[in-house]
Amino acid sequence: MKLQEYQAKNILSEYGAKIQAGKVATTADEVEKIAEEFDSMVVIKSQVLVGGRGKAGGIKLAKTPEEAREKAEKILGMQIKGLTVKKVLVAKAVDIADEAYLGLILDRNTKKIVMMASPQGGIDIEQVAKETPEQIFKIYIDPFLGIRPYSARYLIGKLYDNPDLIKQGIELAMKLYNIFVGVDAQLVEVNPLVITEQGEMICVDSKIILDDSGLMKHPDYLKLRNKDEYSQEELEAKEMGLSYVQLTGNIGCVVNGAGLSMATMDLVKHYGGEPANFLDVGGSSNPKKVVKALDIITRDKNVKVILFNIFGGITRCDDIAKGLIDAIAEFKPNIPIIARLTGTNETEGRKILKDADIPVFASMDDVVEQAVNLAK
Ligand code: GDP
Ligand code: MN
Repeated sequence: MKLQEYQAKNILSEYGAKIQAGKVATTADEVEKIAEEFDSMVVIKSQVLVGGRGKAGGIKLAKTPEEAREKAEKILGMQIKGLTVKKVLVAKAVDIADEAYLGLILDRNTKKIVMMASPQGGIDIEQVAKETPEQIFKIYIDPFLGIRPYSARYLIGKLYDNPDLIKQGIELAMKLYNIFVGVDAQLVEVNPLVITEQGEMICVDSKIILDDSGLMKHPDYLKLRNKDEYSQEELEAKEMGLSYVQLTGNIGCVVNGAGLSMATMDLVKHYGGEPANFLDVGGSSNPKKVVKALDIITRDKNVKVILFNIFGGITRCDDIAKGLIDAIAEFKPNIPIIARLTGTNETEGRKILKDADIPVFASMDDVVEQAVNLAK
């Protein structure tokens, strides 16, 4: 679960990390009032679940409350990477002397939490990793020992020479690790980690992603869920027990099982096509799921062909075929649908589709190649 900047910073603050004073607003009026109250230069920050808000014009400094109102009018309602800005964080602006990066993720290869630091702060860490990978420093944290001060000292020493800053940095590194473990995060990131002209260390921007599987331990965080994290289609799919991720290609895929879904998408790419989505109808044979799957996929106007790839195990091919016939009757899609059915009750399943003039294949290669041709 992705958190907005202000939600992430509240957690940082709870754990004792230093952030700017700030308040959330949804109207330009409120922004003006907050700026008056702070009686200092403010920064108005769009709260959307994507990075690069600064570059997109979603972060603006304002010297006076009037200016804050004007800037807020521009930011509220603007689109950033397809998301509409409905909320802004109004924070006391800081004078930046230095920007660094400090963050934690789980490294699946070493099965350890890795803390990364870079003196190249303020820009996307992905960009730093690509262009100047030697500017990223890492420590791998033993899950039994936790983060040790000497280890944090090594990492923070790559950012600062000043002993006072190193001391503050070590303390912050330990706090960020405590957050990562404490909230069951997948990502905790501070970028930029700022040193002000006055020599203070402040977390100016933060990103936290909570592990959905850990949320049952933190029922309070459930209400932090942002509707924007998922599209309407993704939410409906979740309700129906489908795993659905929208992509940008033109081949709609309905597959059972996550592994087969991934393999299908690989094969689509292999034959020169682009999948429009990842959609796993799961391991049960519930025709209603197929109806929902088709409903969701046909809403995507990019889709030129729909490809069913079903391996019947627990799922019965005839159930899928029946679901497909029901779905076609309901949504009358005007794009071609082709299917591959193998496994449990494949003969019955294929017969149902053949009788309805839906091209049906036994081989995965054949059906994917055909789908790619139809999409062209
Ligand atoms: P992002 O673009 O979504 O990562 O948003 P950030 O909060 O990281 O802001 C982007 C950039 O805006 C930062 O790297 C800073 O250079 C600048 N910025 C943000 N807050 C302040 C502030 O309080 N004062 C100043 N001077 N610059 C700021
Ligand atoms: Mn940032």
